[in-house]
Amino acid sequence: PTFKELGVIDPLLDALSSLSFTKPTDIQAEALPYALQGRDIIGVAETGSGKTAAFALPILQKLWEDPQPLFACILAPTRELAYQISQQIEALGSGMGVRCAIIVGGMPMMDQGIALSKRPHIVVATPGRLHDHLENTKGFSLRNLKYLVLDEADRLLDLDFGPIIDKILKVIPKERHTYLFSATMTAKVAKLQRASLVNPVRVEV
Ligand code: AMP
Repeated sequence: PTFKELGVIDPLLDALSSLSFTKPTDIQAEALPYALQGRDIIGVAETGSGKTAAFALPILQKLWEDPQPLFACILAPTRELAYQISQQIEALGSGMGVRCAIIVGGMPMMDQGIALSKRPHIVVATPGRLHDHLENTKGFSLRNLKYLVLDEADRLLDLDFGPIIDKILKVIPKERHTYLFSATMTAKVAKLQRASLVNPVRVEV
């Protein structure tokens, strides 16, 4: 199928063609229709599969239809991955005026607090630093969050982010959409999946 046949809207089709993403990857072709129907998704996919666009496109599409600050939060295991995700979201959302904040360890809390006070649409974060802001940055909350992504869930758990993710899950709405991506499905990932997704579709490549 083409991106258009999968239900992707024009502003995103324009961005996809300027990035020369001419044809959906397998994970994109499988996940997009379910995601656009509003389903929670478990994606078993490795880096290189196109998983980032598989979760970014439906989020950007829903954001376009109903723009709101602090609409989506993406949790990644490392700073480098957080930067890559944010770059790709900004490239895909370039024509839409999407504002993204990167909230990772090792950077000043104060600068990040200022970025969050500008109410970005999307926050890409490592769990520890995001939790720090949820506890300590006045005026910042994710109580209107619509989308949560747990990217590279197996690595998130290997790095012992499980307890912090549980704390984050307690302060975001239960009524939301959740996408979990992982290269491997371990028992720990399955447990996180049960704690965070509702009636998910599993897509695998
Ligand atoms: P990811 O698995 O999300 O890390 O993506 C791997 C690489 O594939 C990234 O450099 C993307 O820019 C690129 N990519 C993602 N989707 C497509 C597509 N449909 N066509 C061509 N390249 C893509």
